[in-house]
Amino acid sequence: SAKNAGKNDFHFFSHEMDQQAHDRVALENELRMALSHNELGVWYQPLVNLKDNNICGVEALVRWKNPVRGFVGPDIFIPIAEESGLILPIGDWIIETICHQLSEWEPHLKDDFHVAINLSPIQIRHSALEKTLLKAISSHRIKNDRIHIEITETALVENEAATLRTLSQLNQAGIKIWLDDFGTGFSSLSHLKQFPVSGVKIDRSFVADLEQDVDDRALISAMIVLANAMTLDVIAEGIETEAQCLLLNELQCPKGQGYFYSRPLPGDQLLDLYRWWPGK
Ligand code: C2E
Ligand code: MG
Ligand code: MG
Ligand code: MG
Repeated sequence: SAKNAGKNDFHFFSHEMDQQAHDRVALENELRMALSHNELGVWYQPLVNLKDNNICGVEALVRWKNPVRGFVGPDIFIPIAEESGLILPIGDWIIETICHQLSEWEPHLKDDFHVAINLSPIQIRHSALEKTLLKAISSHRIKNDRIHIEITETALVENEAATLRTLSQLNQAGIKIWLDDFGTGFSSLSHLKQFPVSGVKIDRSFVADLEQDVDDRALISAMIVLANAMTLDVIAEGIETEAQCLLLNELQCPKGQGYFYSRPLPGDQLLDLYRWWPGK
């Protein structure tokens, strides 16, 4: 009967929800051990200047390889790290790892090369962020402008005054700030005026259908015109095909990133790619 079916549905969903909560707790416990068990790593994806095809920097992307599960994506574990507070020790470890990596790469790097670090809103809200970052930079004897940070607009709508203070201090120290996933979520053009942002990263959802979708093309074109008018830099994310690359070049997009150029790579492989890269 309908009644029984409903009851079964209830049991089914209830069981599924239990299972989900259980998985979530298990994952959180495993994540808690990931740092001390050496399961985390930082990989790097090139950021490419679309005009001359040179690599001008990389985005640092955290990786977690669990011995049983294999690779767990940051889209899965970063939210868990944020809810559990683990993002603070993990975030500190990521900053330290990147600064160490930069000091090893330094002899091979051109002046303009930088590493972009993704920062969670929770890290930005935490009062020690700029101290942690500037201390890691100076203890590895790298220049402040080797580091950029990427934040999402979620970070800007929470605790605006404190966030503005932290970002202004980092910006004054020579660390550039990028708005990640631009055009999605809480987008408000006033953020570009209110916060010391140097550039925007156009979300890859706009790039994906660029060849077919005239609306996406119009939106990207408008974002680039806006950014130019405000003297903001632009990176288009998620370039997977040569056609997308050519279209973005036509739209005067200055920089890009995506599988078309390279997937994220471990540090040693990234350095090889950088050193042998056929730029102009
Ligand atoms: P994001 O900052 O927008 O990073 C870009 C994501 O797009 C990365 O996924 C990257 O591997 C992926 N990607 C790059 N090129 C392409 C492409 O051509 N096609 C497609 N389909 N995808 C592409 P990933 O590494 O899985 O990271 C997902 C998200 O997790 C990041 O989005 C970022 O929000 C977060 N995340 C990653 N690393 C960190 C970190 O160290 N700290 C924090 N707080 N968040 C991180
Ligand atoms: Mg990013
Ligand atoms: Mg992004
Ligand atoms: Mg994203």
